Parts: sequence; C-alpha cells; structure tokens
Amino acid sequence: MGRSVSRREFLRDVALYGAAIAGGYLVASEGEGKLATRVLGRTKLKVTVVSFGGLRLENPDVLSMAIDKGMNLIHTSPGYAGGRSIKAFGEVMKTKRSKVYLALKDSPTGNIDGALKILNTDYVDILLPQIDIPDQVRNERWIEGYERLKKEGKIRFTGFACHTNIPAVMEAAIEFGYHDVMLISYNIGNRKMLDPLIERAAEKGIGIMAMKAMGGLRRGDPETIVAGLKSLLTNKGVHTLLIGMTTFEEVECNLKVGAGELTKAEAELLERHMAVVAATLCAGCGKCNVCPKGISIADLMRCYEYAMRGDLDVAKEAYTSLRASCVSCDGCKKCELACPKGLPIARRLNQLHTLLS
Ligand code: SF4
Ligand code: SF4
Repeated sequence: MGRSVSRREFLRDVALYGAAIAGGYLVASEGEGKLATRVLGRTKLKVTVVSFGGLRLENPDVLSMAIDKGMNLIHTSPGYAGGRSIKAFGEVMKTKRSKVYLALKDSPTGNIDGALKILNTDYVDILLPQIDIPDQVRNERWIEGYERLKKEGKIRFTGFACHTNIPAVMEAAIEFGYHDVMLISYNIGNRKMLDPLIERAAEKGIGIMAMKAMGGLRRGDPETIVAGLKSLLTNKGVHTLLIGMTTFEEVECNLKVGAGELTKAEAELLERHMAVVAATLCAGCGKCNVCPKGISIADLMRCYEYAMRGDLDVAKEAYTSLRASCVSCDGCKKCELACPKGLPIARRLNQLHTLLS
C-alpha cells in the first residue's frame, strides 16, 4: 500500500462525498398510497416495485410486517447474516409462503434441498446465483442444474445476480437469452450506463430486479434518498428495487417510496445532488480489473460504496474476504488509467484499509 490515510482524512472524504456515517431511515413523501406493482418480464409475476432484501435480516417479525403490508417479492441466501437471514425467512414462510414470490441466491449445483428445508418450502420462484464473468451465463453445468431443478419443481424461473462487470455480463445474457431474470446493481451512479442494456433486456422479456439502489445516496439525507429511489423507478424496464431492510421503520418508509411518483421538487433535489457527487461515483463497470497483483478492484470499490453510504458492517464483511489482496497494492495506478471516470482507486483502497482493517 502507499501512504496510509488517517481516519480523520477518511471521514472528511466521506463528508465531501456527501455521505453521513450515522444511520438513517428512508422517509417518504406525503399523500402516497398502495405499493405499485410491475410484471417481471416473461415470468409474468406481478411484483411490487419495492421488494425485500434479506442481506442483514435477523428479526423475522420485520419480514412478516413487510409481507402483511403488501410487499410480495423477497430474497435471501444461505450465506446472509451468517445463516441467520435464511432461518428468519424460514420462520416466516411457515405461515406466509403463499403470499410471496421467493428468490434465492444460491448455485444451481449447490445444496438447494438444504436451503429449501430451512426455508420451509418445496420450491423457490427465482434462483439467482452470482455471476460476474460473462462466460458464466453459458456455463453448461449450471444450465443443466437449472433445468434439473425446474424439472423437479424446486425452482420456477432462472436468473442471476451481478455486482461487477455488469455491462459485459448483461450483454452476454441478453445475447444468450436463457435467463428469465437479472438482478443487477443499479443506482444513480450507473444508470446512464445500464439503461440502454435494460431496454434491450426488456425486448427479450427479461425481468429486471435492481439491487444496491442506495448507491450514491446519503443515509443522513432522507429526502434525497426518496428522490433517488423514485427516480430509478421512472425506468419502467426496472421492475423492482430490491432493498435490504432490517427494521420496521425501514419497511414503513420503503413501502411509501414504492407508492409514489417522482415529483418535480424531488427531481430538482436529485439534480442538485448529482451535480455534487456524479463525478465521484463508481459505475461498477469492472474496467479497472487490470491489476498486475490480481487485486479484485471492482469488488473493493463496491466495499467503498457500502462504507460511503454508512453500511460499515456490510463493507467490513465484504472487505474481510478481499483484504489480503488489497494490502498488496503498490500504487502503480494502472487501474486508475483504465477507469473511464478517472477515480482515485489507489487512494480509496488505502482509505478502506485504514477504516476497516
Ligand atoms: S493496478 Fe491499482 S490496485 Fe493494482 S497495484 Fe496498481 S494501483 Fe494498486
Ligand atoms: S472504479 Fe472505475 S473502472 Fe472500476 S468499476 Fe468503478 S467506474 Fe468502473
């Protein structure tokens, strides 16, 4: 690593970037009604425009409340929250399975039976393993796995989740045409890059679920969060925003976000926000993955985004698995030359190491 960055400097950068480390909840506008729904591409599932992400869920009552309030698409994985998320989901599925579409992040060649047992169900609606390499969308073993699971009635639809290298993976999936659903990182920082691909996906009937939708928004600035999330939903090719929730307050507020249109005042607020932060946001394009030391730069930039918006626990968990490669950075800046936005990657890696190690 190059020069180390003090915690004070890091926090200053956070402030400049516009993020507040202190937590906050979404606050919705007044006068909004029922949560809207959209049809998830060729699956024909009519899903609510805000769906429940279980990345850090531990309290089953929070999920239960979201379902009772009308949220009908929920998502978890055996690895989330050290296994506590899927257990919480399983608890709720004992009584509410028929009220929701259930999406699972797991490999089609993994232990789906084990996950189904914990979930107290016979099937999931959508299987979404992680894919960050374009060739993986055509992986024959996985296609066989999906087909076998469909035949056995354990999954209904096929899909994948993609965090990095998003345009290349989407391009490959659109061309291949096999998957029914894509769960992609989509936010105010990368939407311009992804909107043309989403339009092409729509032409093929591919359902789009958007995750990491909070990227580029400020936890301490609820009005901008509401404006940002609503603005993502102005793209009708985006069928649902998958938002991680852990508290009753977050559920309440996200329900309201999904029930109202973007107002003129909100659009103007977002425009002012973007004028400040747009140049600093990572688009998740993956072009910086050229490190001679093999550092997973795009993944680390994702950790940085988590930290910037105040999700330090998530950032730390993700960072821990990558830290060994991060510390070997010698500051050569090859990655920065490859980044179309010219982001100060080496400095950000240094900041991450300082804050999270
Ligand atoms: S390419 Fe980037 S991450 Fe890799 S050593 Fe050089 S500066 Fe560090
Ligand atoms: S740091 Fe730059 S090159 Fe890397 S994913 Fe972000 S925008 Fe793309």
